[in-house]
Amino acid sequence: MTDLKNKVAIITGASSGIGEATAHLLAEKGVKVVLAARRVEKLEALKNDIEKNGGTAEIVVTDVSHKVAVQHLADHTIDKFGKIDFLINNAGLMPLSFVKNLHIDEWEKMIDVNIKGVMYAVAAVLPNMRKNKYGHIINISSVAGKKVMPGSAVYSATKFAVRAFTEGLRMELSPQENIRATSIEPGAVATELTNTITDDEIQQFVDKLKEMEMLTSEDIARAILYAVEQPQHVNIGELLIMPKEQG
Ligand code: NDP
Repeated sequence: MTDLKNKVAIITGASSGIGEATAHLLAEKGVKVVLAARRVEKLEALKNDIEKNGGTAEIVVTDVSHKVAVQHLADHTIDKFGKIDFLINNAGLMPLSFVKNLHIDEWEKMIDVNIKGVMYAVAAVLPNMRKNKYGHIINISSVAGKKVMPGSAVYSATKFAVRAFTEGLRMELSPQENIRATSIEPGAVATELTNTITDDEIQQFVDKLKEMEMLTSEDIARAILYAVEQPQHVNIGELLIMPKEQG
């Protein structure tokens, strides 16, 4: 298995949900975690919790849709810890809506954060990983990156893109550069993600999903841990994790 002690991980979207749970779990395993998101007070509370438990955490307030901010995140991580071993590319939003309702601003935001943000982060960490001939990029796609539903056209388009991008990374970087790439594809997870929905017509679908026993953020954190702690010759290309009740 890969020894996680003193590995360095950037986690985007660390201020809540899956990112927060992953930060806790990786820090417990001895990974130095760099927490990135926009809500500084949430990041500070998480850093305090991690440090209370004996872990190491650093905060870099980052809007991943800004290329310069994402580059600063990587540069600061290298200044502080000397390297980047893991990138957990998790920041995202899901303002589901029906296409006919033309929530164009939300479409643009999803493209900026869910696609461009993921790519900016890969671009920012790659030179260091290539120099070290070592790295693992974990991109959070979704079951919506494999299946489209009414209301998920644009969100699914972004998550299909993440999945395609990750597979391209794996094929280019894993054999040549010793940089692994994994796409994590959760079904419904109980987080703040649905808070960004403004299309009232979609609310019924969301309420229906909440009737079943959803996954927890910790369920997904364990899947991420599973991928990063595999022995060096193993690259988990993708993991689909579904609530038992979700078809
Ligand atoms: P949350 O809403 O709890 O987390 C989203 C995170 O993304 C927050 O930390 C938020 O931080 C961050 N974020 C949003 N916009 C930006 C931005 N512009 N710059 C930096 N950070 C940003 O939801 P989840 O934990 O559920 O979502 C995490 C990922 O998992 C997303 O990519 C989502 O698409 C994916 N996913 C979630 C599923 C679910 O059912 N919950 C299912 C499948 C995939 P802040 O607001 O502080 O910037």
